[in-house]
Amino acid sequence: MSAPPPLSTYYYHIYDHKLFGNERLGKRLPPFARVNFRIPISKTSKAKEHKWIQCLKSDMAKLREIGGRKGIVDPAVVRAEPGSVRGRDLLVLKVGKGEEYPVLITGGHHGNEWTSVEIPFLIAQFLIVNYTENPAEGSPDEGTLLGRKRIKHLLENRQIWFVPMVNPDGHYMSMTATREQRKNAHEVDINRNYPTETWGQVTDPEQLKPDSGAYPGPGPASEPEVQSMAALISRHRFKASISYHNYSKEVLYFHDGQSDKYLIHVAKHMQALLNRHLASGDGGPYGVCGMNKKHPSFGHIADYCYEHARGQPTLGLELPPRLHSPKQQTFAWIEETTIEQTFHENLPAALALINSAGFLHRAGPTKIQADSATRMLQLVRSYWEVFKDWKLFGTEPDQAAREQG
Ligand SMILES: [Zn+2]
Repeated sequence: MSAPPPLSTYYYHIYDHKLFGNERLGKRLPPFARVNFRIPISKTSKAKEHKWIQCLKSDMAKLREIGGRKGIVDPAVVRAEPGSVRGRDLLVLKVGKGEEYPVLITGGHHGNEWTSVEIPFLIAQFLIVNYTENPAEGSPDEGTLLGRKRIKHLLENRQIWFVPMVNPDGHYMSMTATREQRKNAHEVDINRNYPTETWGQVTDPEQLKPDSGAYPGPGPASEPEVQSMAALISRHRFKASISYHNYSKEVLYFHDGQSDKYLIHVAKHMQALLNRHLASGDGGPYGVCGMNKKHPSFGHIADYCYEHARGQPTLGLELPPRLHSPKQQTFAWIEETTIEQTFHENLPAALALINSAGFLHRAGPTKIQADSATRMLQLVRSYWEVFKDWKLFGTEPDQAAREQG
């Protein structure tokens, strides 16, 4: 085995590397294991690619332990039940003390979207490792976006549930057998299987066939992964959520044609934050789009979250790259070397969304009357409340109003 590359050049996790790495290596793997193994690049090609892989199970256990010692991670919360088709855990980290304002951050609904596992994991790691009960007065990072006082504020006033790998079976299949594996072990697209009011409504009837890439399953919540997540969502009614995916570089917000303009506002601020911190050169800036406008298929986690917390922001975040050329039609060309920069450009927006969970709990859609100047001003002010603390968009509500333009 050659020496591991610098951290910034790799960072994929697999659910449990011991399932395949142990025998070949012929030795016991350390808790934060890095295994160099070969991944099939595509269905058709016989070519293999070497990757350095870490073990999600043990890395999350380590974070749970570090956070548990600091009193900001609940050591009793490990998994969402019942788990996956093949009996793997949907690993959970429950971070923060602000029970009143729960937030859900997920990744890896689709097996082939490896980066989408890393971003939630790295956000959790950032918060847990950097949390300190007594941030030093006058420290260099005081008052900055990612400063320790802000981290302390977030973790003491929000409760963030991280589930970085919702589809561990699909991810394992993608890592070991079929790089393009999107669905779960029952070949169901679990991000179309949520038991929403709109489950199974598709514009293209082909999608209802089991061989479709977006097959919603034989019935709503037929899949154990979805049962696990749906139980969590209906219990906690998350006041903000992000579901990370690959790829297209877009902020997708819940949109049913009438949902609250507040959601659009949050999505646009997220987009502005992402583009302000843009690091990945893959295809330019992030876009923003109403989810069910662009992807008219239902039963996503975002639909389900929205049904349980109407008016609260529930976003999908498509990570880089933005576009692909005809030569780049598989997930295999998404480089692990981009993970670190993708994380850094996504972190401020993710923290802002976590912060937003503390604001505005309006029930039901609110239509804004264009002729009601007072009402509009009120809304702009309330929108502003969510983001003003972040010192990112000037100092006056009027300026925020102009940005909304
Ligand atoms: Zn996806």
